[in-house]
Amino acid sequence: MPELPEMEAWRRQLNDPVSAFPIAKAGPAHIATLKTYDPPIAMLEGRRLAGAERRAKRLLFPTDDGELVLLVHLMTAGRLKFLRAGETGPKTPAFQLEFQGGSRLVLTEAGAKKRAGVWLLTPAAAEAELAHLGPEALGLGVERLGEILGGESRRLHSLLRDQRLLAGIGRAWANEILHTARLSPFQLSRELDEDEIARLAAAIDDELARGLELRERGASDKKTYRVHDKLGEPCFVCGTPIARVDYEEHTVYYCPECQTSGRVLKDRRLSRLLR
Ligand SMILES: [Zn+2]
Repeated sequence: MPELPEMEAWRRQLNDPVSAFPIAKAGPAHIATLKTYDPPIAMLEGRRLAGAERRAKRLLFPTDDGELVLLVHLMTAGRLKFLRAGETGPKTPAFQLEFQGGSRLVLTEAGAKKRAGVWLLTPAAAEAELAHLGPEALGLGVERLGEILGGESRRLHSLLRDQRLLAGIGRAWANEILHTARLSPFQLSRELDEDEIARLAAAIDDELARGLELRERGASDKKTYRVHDKLGEPCFVCGTPIARVDYEEHTVYYCPECQTSGRVLKDRRLSRLLR
């Protein structure tokens, strides 16, 4: 799933092109992708977008008259693409906006399951839709992070991914951040000392900023991640093979030398915990 660095890179890319021309045609939209019917999507036609904004892993496209907000959540497999006039795109987009002059903003989703979503909302409804989200992870700071960590006793990998506590991090960047912070994914949030909290706060900023810079240059997953999805490859810090462990519904990657004092973590699948 695209996380904060990926979404922010897309936001920066889309900001100018989506606001260059008014919308000529809104749709077609896959029935499972468009989540709202009131206001109708045709209400966008003739209006101009003010640009692209981002909150957590979602993109927002407010109209420049301040009346409507198009909200996009790509989930795991959704992808957004801006096509210039005449550029060929997918035959059956999950959602499409066509601008005057012929350029298009196209949402595609691989696979049969349509999980990505598009909502057309009033600004007040958009605010309500996003109200459950915690503060943005990038630039959070030591003090705020310390409060969040102390708020409930949670394993760090799970806490970092909880969008209600801090927004924008998913499983890939949680792996990268915890490696840089030299912390175990299973360490309990309330057991961190001051030094560890400071390391985690710095790692969140450093890793998300590194990701954003790479994604803006179009870097692939392989070139962006150093720990995530690198099972058996040497840790770039110490050379120990990267290990993995199943946790809840996620696969967690970590370095046993840098993060867990040589200990190999045991599977903690949800099904096993519930037994
Ligand atoms: Zn290592």
